[in-house]
Amino acid sequence: MQTASETASLHAAPFLRGLAGIVGQDSVVSVLRSAMAAGRPHHAYLFDGPEGVGKATTARALAAALNCLSPPQVGDACGHCEACAKLLSGSHPDFLVVNMELAGLADEIERLLKRLAFPPFEGRSQVILIDPADQLTAPTALTAANRLLKTLEEPRVGTHFILVSTCGSGLLQTIRSRCQRLRFVPLADKVLTDLLVQQCSLSPEVAQSVVALSQGSLGRAVRCAQDPETLERRQKEAEALLGAARTGRATQICQRASEIGTDRDEAVEVLELLWLRLHGELRRHGQAGSLTLAQRTAEAMRVIRETQLAIRRYTSAPLSIERLGRQLHSALGRESSTGHTRSAQ
Ligand SMILES: [Zn+2]
Repeated sequence: MQTASETASLHAAPFLRGLAGIVGQDSVVSVLRSAMAAGRPHHAYLFDGPEGVGKATTARALAAALNCLSPPQVGDACGHCEACAKLLSGSHPDFLVVNMELAGLADEIERLLKRLAFPPFEGRSQVILIDPADQLTAPTALTAANRLLKTLEEPRVGTHFILVSTCGSGLLQTIRSRCQRLRFVPLADKVLTDLLVQQCSLSPEVAQSVVALSQGSLGRAVRCAQDPETLERRQKEAEALLGAARTGRATQICQRASEIGTDRDEAVEVLELLWLRLHGELRRHGQAGSLTLAQRTAEAMRVIRETQLAIRRYTSAPLSIERLGRQLHSALGRESSTGHTRSAQ
């Protein structure tokens, strides 16, 4: 029997229900449920997918499912036992969240490795959340990444790493090969609308109006509800960059790059919208059986992710976007549709 405050917690923190609280990621949930039912959850997962679709929430849900003291069924959590309460308050000693600030990352990884020499303090499992794992690919994080490799390959039984990334293919091969990669997808409009109404207390009318702009991301939908003009402007910038890239005119690409690149966070967000737009195209090409177009679109999406990483690492944003514009032209430009394959490099 749940109290009113416990019910409120479940709405505010859906991970407290374990995998039952995760919506819109059916294939990921299915893989995790099967692994738990078989008693063999993987020792290292790579949760890979766009921003704001539930990767970190699913990591917490898995931690809850692994440590809940009275789970209703395998893979779920009760939401009100002592372990669930500690996960909600962020005080569970066996759920470790790595601080991914580059400045102290090497020391942070050393502390983690020392901690992992001991078994779980009070839970059945230790869960280590590495978010964003993309930080491990920074040149200054190479030592930390290498220190992590052996433990990532063979952790103590009951220890599970969850690496969260928007660009799993950009991680070091040595890290990727040690993880089971699960792909998260943009949330369907209906799922997103329901989440906005149930978890974010938006009216159904407001929820529907922001869903179209937010392209499957709950995080973006919430921000959009607070500031729809900003998102609309960024959508237009993403469209303009794509249009300039398709024509291949250098002056247009340069102009868009200098406009978008003036603010680093804004640039990353515009590129995220562009990635999501191409994700929709990729799905349509796949359904239509257009293999070549699908390959070119996938290549364009890959270079967008690389550019986002470069911008986050303080490479010049305008120059990075200008280079991206040329790469997108190689992958998606009009002459590509004549049939010959071109490299996007
Ligand atoms: Zn519980």
